[in-house]
Amino acid sequence: MKISFYGGSQEVTGSCFLFDSGKTKILIDCGLFQCPRFCDLRSRDPFPFNPKDIKALFVTHAHIDHTGRIPKLVKEGFSGKIYSTPPTKELAFLMLKDSLGVLEKEARHHKEDLMFSEEDIDSAFKIWEGVEYHKIIEIGDLKIRLFDSGHVLGSSMIEIVLEGRKVLFTGDLGNPPTPLLNNPEEIRDAVVMLVESTYGNRIHNDKKERKLRLERIIENTMQGKGVLMIPAFSLERTQELLAEIDDLLESGRIPRIPIFLDSPLAIKATAVYKKYENYFNKEANNKIKSGNDIFRFHGLKLTMTTEESKAINEIRPPKIVIAGSGMSNGGRILHHEKRYLPDPNSTLLLVGYQAAGSLGRMLQDGAEEVTIHGEKILVRAKVETLQGYSSHPDREQLMEFISKSKDTLEKVFVITGEPASALFLVQRVRDYFGIPAEAPRYGETKEI
Ligand SMILES: [Zn+2]
Repeated sequence: MKISFYGGSQEVTGSCFLFDSGKTKILIDCGLFQCPRFCDLRSRDPFPFNPKDIKALFVTHAHIDHTGRIPKLVKEGFSGKIYSTPPTKELAFLMLKDSLGVLEKEARHHKEDLMFSEEDIDSAFKIWEGVEYHKIIEIGDLKIRLFDSGHVLGSSMIEIVLEGRKVLFTGDLGNPPTPLLNNPEEIRDAVVMLVESTYGNRIHNDKKERKLRLERIIENTMQGKGVLMIPAFSLERTQELLAEIDDLLESGRIPRIPIFLDSPLAIKATAVYKKYENYFNKEANNKIKSGNDIFRFHGLKLTMTTEESKAINEIRPPKIVIAGSGMSNGGRILHHEKRYLPDPNSTLLLVGYQAAGSLGRMLQDGAEEVTIHGEKILVRAKVETLQGYSSHPDREQLMEFISKSKDTLEKVFVITGEPASALFLVQRVRDYFGIPAEAPRYGETKEI
């Protein structure tokens, strides 16, 4: 079998991998290259393969850096089937429809053609089938199964078996334990593994500490009568935050405070989460069974329309605003940042991965002045990072995950991480397990 690395290779975004058994070609993920632009120019390049030759596309999860080029793939002749779990399918639909708005804006700004149309998105969903975890799907000579990766609702690892040899593609893995999801499933006898490395060289804060810090940051915001801005990814991070704030309120550890979920996409995604409660972990399910709506609490307002969003300004601080986008690359969070970053009583709380080049990363790195919508904005607000909220494993968890298959592994390919992170993990896999490892670059093909 040959594996070609067409994105997410020594970089985080653009996840796209071609598996070719000699008889059957399948693709895993078809994500957008992002950063510095939402849709980096490379996303517009022709595919380095013929989409018509691909029998099936497997989608690990709904994040746009894993799904964003699917409509382009369909537009350019892919006519096989698309497989993912049912929640991934529904969440991907929301994400892709939402991405179109951003793509349109960006294309207008740069005077470019739109990469694909709404019809291309709809065509993709006509050939998209939801499959549950563990069900075997046969595509030519390949047997494929999805396993829970615990990263976002419905996220999957993908196991490909050819002639008894098991190749595991981890997709994005979770950072257990989480308030909502199960831990990533343990996979024991993979022969080849493609493993993510977003945090391949980092260690996360303790989870308990993260909740305590969230509590303190909310308390400080109330005392200072400031605004707590939380740029949050619409999938998982937002729902996790809502569940944790719900918990802090229920247990009386924070007083009531107006909280705005100011993101139409996050509001819609939360509705999908509610629909697929059977994908949650036991703890979350028990809470739901006892009648606690974990995404709804006193003081929480969902602001769907622009008018409702603007009306948040009228509410006197203290208040909390959760809004997209998670790296402050766009979205409603920018309006709040523009208004409250100059306020020393306010706080910007970063709870997720901030890619190099994003506004979020600049703020995280201590920028004293930033440009938002063409305006220079002084940063006087506190900027805090809660790293424990990452929905990716840290370097120790990654090693622990790989170690489960260390007796059978013949090769590890480290993917979806910036070079420093990917290469650090490569070195550790070689040193600790004595397993050959490498981090291929874009366009490389490896025989396994
Ligand atoms: Zn992801």
